[in-house]
Amino acid sequence: MTLNKNPYDNMLEQLDAAAQIAGLSMEEYITLRYPEREFTINFPVEMDDGRVEIFTGYRVQHNSVRGPYKGGVRFHPHVNMDEVRALAAWMTFKCAVADIPFGGAKGGIAFDPSTLSQKEIERITRAYTAGIMPLIGPEVDIPAPDVNTNAQVMAWMMDSYSKYKGRNTPGIVTGKPVSIGGSLGRREATGRGVSFMVREIARQLGIDLEDATVSIQGFGNVGSVTAESLYSMGCKIVAVSDVSSAIYCENGLDIPSLIAHVNRHPKHLIEGYDQDGLEPIDNPTLLTLNVDFLIPAALENQITKEIAMNTKARIIVEAANGPTTFEADKVLEDRGITLVPDILANSGGVTASYFEWVQNLQHLSWDESKINVNLERKMVSSFEAVYNTALEKNTSMRMGAYIVALYRLVEARKLRGIF
Ligand code: NAD
Repeated sequence: MTLNKNPYDNMLEQLDAAAQIAGLSMEEYITLRYPEREFTINFPVEMDDGRVEIFTGYRVQHNSVRGPYKGGVRFHPHVNMDEVRALAAWMTFKCAVADIPFGGAKGGIAFDPSTLSQKEIERITRAYTAGIMPLIGPEVDIPAPDVNTNAQVMAWMMDSYSKYKGRNTPGIVTGKPVSIGGSLGRREATGRGVSFMVREIARQLGIDLEDATVSIQGFGNVGSVTAESLYSMGCKIVAVSDVSSAIYCENGLDIPSLIAHVNRHPKHLIEGYDQDGLEPIDNPTLLTLNVDFLIPAALENQITKEIAMNTKARIIVEAANGPTTFEADKVLEDRGITLVPDILANSGGVTASYFEWVQNLQHLSWDESKINVNLERKMVSSFEAVYNTALEKNTSMRMGAYIVALYRLVEARKLRGIF
């Protein structure tokens, strides 16, 4: 996977372009161009064979004008400050589009968890939590899962924080297991939200979801739940991929059996899956297939200018954060390919995280139907705000989403003032 462009520059280009369309002066939004606080830690961890290794972790707190910092923690060998900074900024805009009272943050540790034992990953997680301890708190900065982190990692973070503080503090992270204060429906919320966005844009463009074709890059938490949810809406998922392989089936993949296979696989991968009519393909082929919906659900900078020029997808719904480069965006717009942007499309995760946090602060738990009804209501209303703003300003939905977020953020800054 090529991470060829500094994702923070990509974010700044999107932000400046939206501010210009919204008619905002640099002075009004300049604070959003700079992260408020950045933190790098190098910490030692004892490995299973007795060696001591140094790991590098990051936490960037981009903006808190609308509420406490909020954002996931990523474990990946490519994690670096530029990436974490961009992801933190996207969280600020995403929480503003979703209209939830959080700011934006992100964290990460540069390592490959697939090569380490669970015990090693646990020690790394706990050491990282101790390292960022001065920065986080249930009403200060609330981490969550992202790429290669899950409910178990959140349980270790919550336990480490609670031990240090001497009191149980479930509200320090979201995306926890349900048995220790997590929320029903949180794990599925991002993918479920992506499928609501597919349904809403299909409705606007008069596309029947029954037998609409879909290809999905990435089959982790977000990609697999999106596939499951769209499959249940009647879509035909013709291609999926992950780090191990990419597969295509003209008649549609049997998503329930693919998910059962991935759950059985020791590394939760699609490699080794088989069904009638299955063909192996490669990543560029998956991204350029002739489908109604292309859903990138892996990492950033996947839809490059070249992919944008060649893709035959009709609509792109960004489940991943920052999967499309700024240059590719322009090509897609010129080619009339509709794009539902990340800060709207994948905001279901942070919205359900907000519900989890509210439950933790109030020491109560909602049933799953309450989560799902509220998730759908919030996401449909964000979709309408973004879609109508894009129409009104005669611009893309990406710009529409930034403009909705910018108005809310700039208003909050004006009310709070410069201090
Ligand atoms: P995950 O670790 O569960 O899954 C990532 C998937 O991408 C895996 O299937 C992995 O094999 C695949 N992948 C990695 N490199 C690939 C490559 N080169 N080609 C094809 N597939 C590749 O992570 P996730 O939580 O599903 O996150 C996916 C994306 O969604 C990220 O951009 C993340 O920031 C974003 N996101 C996640 C959440 C959430 O709630 N988990 C919320 C909002 C946005």
